[in-house]
Formats: sequence, C-alpha cells, structure tokens
Amino acid sequence: MSESSLPDRGGLVGNDVIKQFKTYMDQILVDLGRQIRLNMQPSRQDCPNCGYDSVRKRSNNRYNSSNPNPLGPLHKVFADGQRCSVCNGQGILNTTRSVDYTAGISKTIKEREIEDFDIGTFNPNLLKTTTVLGSFGDISSCENALIDGQTYKLIGKPIKTGLRDLIRVKAFWELV
Ligand SMILES: [Zn+2]
Repeated sequence: MSESSLPDRGGLVGNDVIKQFKTYMDQILVDLGRQIRLNMQPSRQDCPNCGYDSVRKRSNNRYNSSNPNPLGPLHKVFADGQRCSVCNGQGILNTTRSVDYTAGISKTIKEREIEDFDIGTFNPNLLKTTTVLGSFGDISSCENALIDGQTYKLIGKPIKTGLRDLIRVKAFWELV
C-alpha cells in the first residue's frame, strides 16, 4: 500500500483529542509519578577568589581582589600566602548540580524492551522511568540518579516516545 492511498490526517483523532490526551497523560504522570533526582556531572571552574598556579596545579595562595561575587561563600578575603578558603587551596571549584523530575517508575520491563534496548538479560535491579520530553538532555548526560532513595546508573541511551507527538522519555536504569 502506498502512502498516497492513506486518508488525510486527523479524520479520527484530531488536534483537540491529541491535546486532551497529552493533558491526561501529564495529569497521570503527576498523580502517579514519584520524584527522581538526576545528579549531573560536576563542572570545574577556576576559583574566583584566588589566582591559579598552573605549574603546581593549585591555588597560588593570593586573594583575587577582582572576585565578582559578593562577600559570602564564593568571596572570602584572605592575606597573601594563606590558604584560600573558597577552594581550600585547590584553585578549582567543582560545582555539583542536580535536577529533579517527576517520573513514572516501573519494575516491569517487557521482554521486547530488553531486546530492543539491548539491556541484557532480565535483572531484578533494573527499572524503567518515564519523564517529560524536556528531561532528555539531562538524562543523557547525568552521572547517576537517585530513585526511591537508591542510586541508579543509566543503561544505554534514553528513548523519546509518544504516539503522534513525542511527549515522553523512557530510560532504563540499573542499581549500583
Ligand atoms: Zn580559591
């Protein structure tokens, strides 16, 4: 059957039905979902409070008077030769970041999914999450996830799913 023999789109399921479907799906996600926390890779940046000694690969123990941050955790005046207390003399700040999403969490993984997504043989430490489409980038690049109080690692790549429109991200995780 060629594509041209298909009827016009929207004859049975129009845009308003699609919109309503997404509204229901979002409500179900919120009503039945639980919070998961994605721990993102820490980002490294130069300490704004001191200079960097690139030979010794640590702080040069000199206060940076042009630190743009207001006095506080990222801006602490110290005397030359003392240890910078913002970076503990490292010269580098590792900033950790985490993001929370509401997720449908399921331990039921279909046999087809095990094959399709190459997640190995059935394993009781696996689970599946379903989250909003906007979580795709964060899930792809997160270091791990805190799910129901336990740490999980992503297996393979997350997948965008939906009927007409892609509205969800499905991901598989293994307990670490
Ligand atoms: Zn510093």
